[in-house]
Amino acid sequence: MRLSESLFVTLREDPAEAEIPSHKLLLRAGYIRRIGSGVYAYLPLMWRVLKKITQITREEMDATGAMECLLPQLQPSEIWRESGRWDTYTKAEGIMFSLLDRQDRQWGLGPTHEEVITTIAKDLIRSYRQLPLHLYQIQTKFRDEIRPRFGLMRGREFIMKDGYSFHSSHESLLETYKAMDQAYRNILTRCGLSFRAVEADSGAIGGSGSQEFMVLADAGEDEILYSEDGLYAANVEKAVSLANPVSDSPFTQKAKVATPNVETIDALAQFLQISPTIVVKTVLYEAIYDSGVKILALVCIRGDQLVNEVKLQNELVKLSGNYQAKTIISLKVPDNLGNDLPLGYLGPDLQGENFIRLVDQSAVSLKDFVVGANEKGFHIVGANWQKDLPLPSLVVDIRKALAGERAIHDPKQILMSARGIEVGHIFQLGIKYSQIMGANYTSENGEDLPLIMGCYGLGVSRLAQSAVEQSYDKNGIIWPSAIAPYHVVLVVPNVNDPEQMNVAEGLYRELNQSGIETLFDDRDERAGVKFKDAELIGIPYRLVTGKSLQEGKVELVERKSGNVEKVPLLEVIAILQSKLKD
Ligand code: ATP
Ligand code: MG
Repeated sequence: MRLSESLFVTLREDPAEAEIPSHKLLLRAGYIRRIGSGVYAYLPLMWRVLKKITQITREEMDATGAMECLLPQLQPSEIWRESGRWDTYTKAEGIMFSLLDRQDRQWGLGPTHEEVITTIAKDLIRSYRQLPLHLYQIQTKFRDEIRPRFGLMRGREFIMKDGYSFHSSHESLLETYKAMDQAYRNILTRCGLSFRAVEADSGAIGGSGSQEFMVLADAGEDEILYSEDGLYAANVEKAVSLANPVSDSPFTQKAKVATPNVETIDALAQFLQISPTIVVKTVLYEAIYDSGVKILALVCIRGDQLVNEVKLQNELVKLSGNYQAKTIISLKVPDNLGNDLPLGYLGPDLQGENFIRLVDQSAVSLKDFVVGANEKGFHIVGANWQKDLPLPSLVVDIRKALAGERAIHDPKQILMSARGIEVGHIFQLGIKYSQIMGANYTSENGEDLPLIMGCYGLGVSRLAQSAVEQSYDKNGIIWPSAIAPYHVVLVVPNVNDPEQMNVAEGLYRELNQSGIETLFDDRDERAGVKFKDAELIGIPYRLVTGKSLQEGKVELVERKSGNVEKVPLLEVIAILQSKLKD
């Protein structure tokens, strides 16, 4: 591609709208343009990157036996009502764009395709003989994100590869799930990314049925906890660990003590001169179910521990049936309760409201502990479950695991923390959608059974930007060769020098003929500007037809290291071919 003939505009200054390096660089280097909130145009260089990622993805998906298709983006509300997701996806914090057609029928713009694919499966899959089956597509998705940000990282329109598999047994699902795990590892490795596969939260379904693929980068929105031996890695939303040991309680007698103005655990620990590990902390949460029912949950946890709100939400979603609901639409510590609860002094046995009472495992084994007295200015010390106050009926794991704690699989391993960008998510869905939408097949024994499903998402456009987030320097982007828009940028320092132009034209022809993708900077610009641009856009190799032409050589500069070699003209192709192979 000749730059003189293309739309190529780079910016000197960092655009004000961008916060993280990859977003700034993609805007500055002319890869993307913002058109509206969370909506971007992929300019020609970006589109080449996306096509390369797409191609790698397609090859790895096809190799597993999955089949590509293309599903509609415009989806009728009826199928979303069938799955029960229309309201949660379009109302309140729902992420689906919805619209009315001229006949006043409701439609949604696909944020994901479980409903569409399950409808197809329901119509077309009859017998176990048709299974297993895995269909995937690569397509633009729409999500009305509350906070679109960081460019392509969290867009409202973005490209995703999504696949859905159907099975007649859990073993078969596991086989495909494992094949997808491997396919995702292959894709990310081929794209030149450093990543980690981690256990992920699978919502209220629970189980070990979900893994995320995290590209490691400081700007990542997710926190990962992992052990050095490589045997454990999880999203902090899901992570477990051994809490640090409990101190001995100095209290042997139950007593009510005055604790004026100590409304935090730290203040309490200091006031009583005790370790927070012997305190039972009681936190009040308000949850609103999708049926409109609002409940208050009293959550008890060891004083030094934090509540993991994702885990808490999953526990409360399990109770949805009690409230004619399917899920929770809001969960928070209420800021204004409108009554005079003894905040800061709450205990698990607080009376008055119809509380849901939960206790985290960390607080269950405590003895002679300190707990709020449900009265402003007072705590109980030396308290014991059952003897002094009833153990809450729901014993759960809702503790937030932290870096520095011991790993469960091997207490000698201390968990470490890293930040990551979620680029992929694989999920054992089971019969969640097939059952509710009536997508059944006939088994070998002639039984009518719901299809067992898996789903596998890969954020193609997010992945592209995460490659930049992982690889740049002060001068610009440094693309991994496999997904760079071009392999080589050929820079003519002076286009008015006929010898330089001649050699460059010849090289350009040869490079193209040998399959080396080349961007030809034949613009009538100062050499310095061209070199700056070449660095900014991050093409792996730069060829310069400069002074060394006198010795029959061109300069070959590696973007990553900045190393400069003088290469005889006749050897350029062979040398580049061998470099691009590594
Ligand atoms: P997140 O937790 O980041 O909101 P998600 O868990 O909702 O993502 P999935 O439904 O698992 O996302 O979608 C599959 C993949 O699509 C994600 O792993 C991610 O790479 C990508 N993705 C999701 N939302 C966006 C978005 N708003 N912009 C760009 N890519 C996205
Ligand atoms: Mg996800």
